[in-house]
Amino acid sequence: MNDTAKLILKPGREKALKRRHPWIFSGAVSRVTGNPQLGSTVVVENSKGSALASAAWSPHSQIRARIWSFDPEEIINESFFRQRIQRAVDHRNRMGLPTTAFRVVNAESDGLPGLIVDKYADIVIIQCLSTGIEFWKDTIVDVLSELFPDCSIAERSDSEVRSREGLTLTAGMIRGQEPDERVIIEEYETKFYVDVRQGHKTGFYLDQRENRQIVARYARGKKILNAFSYTGGFGVTAASKDALFVTHIDSSSDALDLARANVELNKQDQNIHEFVQGNVFEVLRTYREQKRAFDLVILDPPKLVESKAKLSRGTRGYKDINMLACQLLVPGGIIATFSCSGQVERELFQKIVADAALDAEREIKVMEWLSQAADHTVDLAFPEGLYLKGLIGRVW
Ligand code: SAH
Repeated sequence: MNDTAKLILKPGREKALKRRHPWIFSGAVSRVTGNPQLGSTVVVENSKGSALASAAWSPHSQIRARIWSFDPEEIINESFFRQRIQRAVDHRNRMGLPTTAFRVVNAESDGLPGLIVDKYADIVIIQCLSTGIEFWKDTIVDVLSELFPDCSIAERSDSEVRSREGLTLTAGMIRGQEPDERVIIEEYETKFYVDVRQGHKTGFYLDQRENRQIVARYARGKKILNAFSYTGGFGVTAASKDALFVTHIDSSSDALDLARANVELNKQDQNIHEFVQGNVFEVLRTYREQKRAFDLVILDPPKLVESKAKLSRGTRGYKDINMLACQLLVPGGIIATFSCSGQVERELFQKIVADAALDAEREIKVMEWLSQAADHTVDLAFPEGLYLKGLIGRVW
């Protein structure tokens, strides 16, 4: 019987669980009884037979089980999911977010390991990244359509992470009307087109919402380099705060097309924007040779460190672009630099940027430390949930 399936830990391996960390790694598992199906619920016991938690079974992943509840008596059913999702929604509602697009559920950090839910105006996008969420998908979709009756629901479970769980990649409509190719969202006073079908993540980098506002405060009258622009996020927000000129660089022509469209959508002067398709690492070198100078450089690269194994290569990447950014800045110019690699902790990031400044023979005086938007919940019991870090500094 599945409902009696048990996962028994090795002696002394319940420490992380006691600290309410939601992952059980394969090395901590002594044995599993009751033949659970992929994603079904198992009761977690310590080696002495005490029940500690209930979890979703994931036999193909190094993370062998993800905790649903630290109360082993709690029943995992529709009402469990309704309660967790409702709590996540209430948390966002109380933030009073000045946007029509936000993260409704942030996986582990909202007590739902592997579930991402983002809302863009009247479309809700789900991303199911664990076997447990896949197992309960229909239930979760029912709850979401109850909570958001006016929204359609689509899935973007096309992230590679799914393969680690033994799941195939999938995407498409689940409920309601197919959205327009470009959904319009409003973030503070700026509008953006979002491509929820093909765009990165579920369509937009919602985690940078507050940082786009903060960086824009430095924009007035400035010549800005928006490196890794994606659909223009930072640059379009900056232009709305009276930037002099914005150069957007991205390797994706689709992203740049949408960036151009976003300039138009906000009725901005097209002549103060320039769009460059290319590799930032190369374009910045060319600019250095050409002795081009900027007043504000924004560096928001993709995750350069995907895993521990790629740490040193990724670190070099961060250092390289930060060094180039320093060299392109006028004395007293501003750098706004980010890393979304969870493996690169804030302290290491700070060290990398410090080394970059040293190589460029420049000094950086930090003015602001930045992190992810609050709807990208961080639960202190799950530090892995904190991945985005950045700083704004004046470069001499
Ligand atoms: N700042 C953006 C998000 C950036 S995401 C926002 O606020 O919305 C990172 C972007 O970097 C993606 O659009 C990706 O296409 C681009 N990219 C990745 N590697 C690149 C490279 N080597 N050169 C230029 N662009 C790159």
